Amino acid sequence: MSAFLDKMRRRGGRYLGVRPAPVRTQRGVFSLSFDDIPVTAWTEAGPILEEHGVTATYYVAGGLSGGQNLGLPQFTTDHLQGLFGAGHEVGCHTFGHTSALAVSPEAYAADLDRNAAWVAERLAGHVMTTFAWPYGDVSVGAKAVVADRFALARGVRDGVNAGSADRANLQAIGLESRRLPGYDLEALMTATAARKGWLIAYGHDVMDGPTPYGCTPDDLDRVIRSAKAAGLEILPVGEAWRKMAA
Ligand SMILES: [Zn+2]
Repeated sequence: MSAFLDKMRRRGGRYLGVRPAPVRTQRGVFSLSFDDIPVTAWTEAGPILEEHGVTATYYVAGGLSGGQNLGLPQFTTDHLQGLFGAGHEVGCHTFGHTSALAVSPEAYAADLDRNAAWVAERLAGHVMTTFAWPYGDVSVGAKAVVADRFALARGVRDGVNAGSADRANLQAIGLESRRLPGYDLEALMTATAARKGWLIAYGHDVMDGPTPYGCTPDDLDRVIRSAKAAGLEILPVGEAWRKMAA
């Protein structure tokens, strides 16, 4: 597929099939999420989250279990059960870490079914209610499939969700070493509080010397402190959504 066509399809996924939803929070909400689940997203990040008394959302692709991704070991079933047991949310990230631009909506749906079954088998029947798009790739056809199955889906486009948001492609900032230097975190947190909005962050590995898609333990600690300093409530993605809908 040409780069041009991919670009057009991405744009279609962003602007078409929008599922508008109001975002109104009492004092602003911050949600942390981790995609793919490299081992350190649990072994390094878990203790930091616990120390701060907060819980996060882990977006799991069953097909990555026990394997390597970007040269890093990925979670095992033990890790997944450990983080779920500690009160973190487990959400869906497809089974095969599949790009919505690479397969038909029908194949995408089958991949979601496979992940749902894989997770339910390992987490006592757990039903995932939120979704994160692998690579941030969204297609109009897949969007209809995802919007039917999940309360919401998170993308990777920068920004604070406030006023009206697309619940099938919520915005998020990257806790990524390649992107973090470009953010004014304090200003983002303050803006989220002022607009009574919802700031979602996503990351991958958490370690000293992270990949371009990961951050250091210090980065994670700083982000949580910054959210707290701005007076934001810190909730997993699904819980934040349910609270808003209530
Ligand atoms: Zn991913």
